[in-house]
Amino acid sequence: MLNIGGLNQGIVIDHIKAGGAMNIYSYLDLENKDVSVAIIKNAKSNKMGKKDIIKIEGTMDDIDLDILGALDHQITINVIKDGAIVDKKFPTLPERVTNILKCKNPRCITTVEPSIAHTFKLTNTTNGVYRCVYCEQSFDRR
Ligand SMILES: [Zn+2]
Repeated sequence: MLNIGGLNQGIVIDHIKAGGAMNIYSYLDLENKDVSVAIIKNAKSNKMGKKDIIKIEGTMDDIDLDILGALDHQITINVIKDGAIVDKKFPTLPERVTNILKCKNPRCITTVEPSIAHTFKLTNTTNGVYRCVYCEQSFDRR
């Protein structure tokens, strides 16, 4: 049972791969949002060994869950209302994402030519693997 720790209204992003919380934090631009955030790193998980959790108190209507899924396909989003979990959401992975994941291959055209959009294609649905459409390099979530 997930401990929502006094959260009254908000979301809890659970089952984030250990070490991945800051990625999601910066993608959601939480620093600049009017919400309070708690990040738990390396929490114990029966399923995963270790995991990160992000708790957000406040309204987060504009989260694109599927894009978060591209960052980490195992996450669960728990929607909290009046201190209880009212909904649990799992991302479905988008086929293609543009300018969300960045190709780290130094020889890729997106590195050489900054005006080209970083575009990744889903190549393995089970493991949530994305590959750069230009150089085929898979996206490394670390
Ligand atoms: Zn590339």
